[in-house]
Parts: sequence; structure tokens; C-alpha cells
Amino acid sequence: METKLNGTTISLIKGDITRQNTEAIVNAANSSLMGGGGVDGAIHRAGGPEIVKECKKIVDLQGRLPAGKAVITTGGKLKARHVIHTVGPVWRGGDRNEAELLASAYEESLKIAIANGLKTVSFPSISTGAYGYPVYQAAEVALRTVLDFLKAQPAACLKKVVFVLFDPGTYQAYEEALQKLDPSATPTERGTV
Ligand code: ADP
Repeated sequence: METKLNGTTISLIKGDITRQNTEAIVNAANSSLMGGGGVDGAIHRAGGPEIVKECKKIVDLQGRLPAGKAVITTGGKLKARHVIHTVGPVWRGGDRNEAELLASAYEESLKIAIANGLKTVSFPSISTGAYGYPVYQAAEVALRTVLDFLKAQPAACLKKVVFVLFDPGTYQAYEEALQKLDPSATPTERGTV
């Protein structure tokens, strides 16, 4: 499914983010930036040791990365030239600023992409795995944040934002959220993004 907003295409696809050829892919990292399970582990495995080397330098300089912030490294052996590492919130019931921190993780990732002159970015579903954020709520925050951010930018500051969703349930949640937020969103043929 996809939609267009202010010159940017926003697409939802099912798949593995490590195989995307956008200029950057976003990693749902943890504050240590030293790798972990889920999508984080998959990105470090596929990208090789160059990524963690740069992450270590960043942590040595600025300390652990707090939830809601983002940093950028090489993509190592990935097709994507860069990995943007962001930390989503751990779900603690919903009244511990989780929605704001999740929105900030998406927004800071988009800002860092633009600051580095990148035009195409892929996101996973941040916080909805090990961090336990309910996926329907997370999908709405993720899409609303990206759509609102793009609306407020100069036209076509980014060409393409892709949500790469790993399992059917997650894909469905994002599809429903996008339909709700933007009824003009249309189905895409597989392989077109
Ligand atoms: P978090 O700790 O932020 O919750 P996880 O990696 O545990 O991050 O999960 C976030 C989402 O990423 C989940 O929906 C999980 O299924 C998904 N995921 C895991 N591996 C991949 C991958 N290779 N590509 C895209 N998404 C993935």
C-alpha cells in the first residue's frame, strides 16, 4: 500500500529491511548501540563489523543513546549506504511518555536523513518486538508522525519513505492505520517499491 504526500511516496511493504536498497535503513537499536536481537541483530549480521565499530565511537564520544534520539553510521556491507540507529521506548503501559518517545524516534531519524542529504529511507516497526509496544497503537503513531513531518517540510525533501514490515500481523496493523489516516492510500503491486 502507498500514498503520496508533498512529493514523497510513503510505502508499506512486507519484507526484510536488511535487503532494502534505500539510501538509509533505520535500526530499532537499544541504548548501548552494540547490537542485540530482532531487527538490530539482523542489521549487524548483514552489515558486518564496520557498523558496530562506528557505533562504539559514537558511544565513546556521547554516551548511550537515549530513547527518542537517532545517530547515523555506515551501512557496511548492506545495500543501504547508511544505517540510522534510533532507540524506541520500552512499553510500560502507555503513560510513561511512550507515544512521544516513539514519535521522536521517527522524527529524529527523518531529520538525520535530511541533514545527510539522503532522499530514501526505510523503517522497521520500532518498539513493537522486544520492547512490547502494542502494534496497532505504534502503527498509528509511526504513520501520523511521518505524515505530519513530511507535511511541514519543503516539497520532496525526501523521495521515498518505506515501512518494511516483517510479519503479516504487523503489515496489517500498518495498513489499517494508513487507511485511517489517509483514506486516499492505494494498494501497490508487489515488487514496485
Ligand atoms: P524493538 O526492540 O524496538 O521492539 P525488535 O527488533 O524486537 O525491536 O522488533 C521490531 C520489529 O522489527 C518487529 O515487528 C520485528 O518482527 C521486526 N523485525 C525483525 N527482524 C526484522 C527484519 N529483518 N526486517 C524488518 N523487520 C524486522
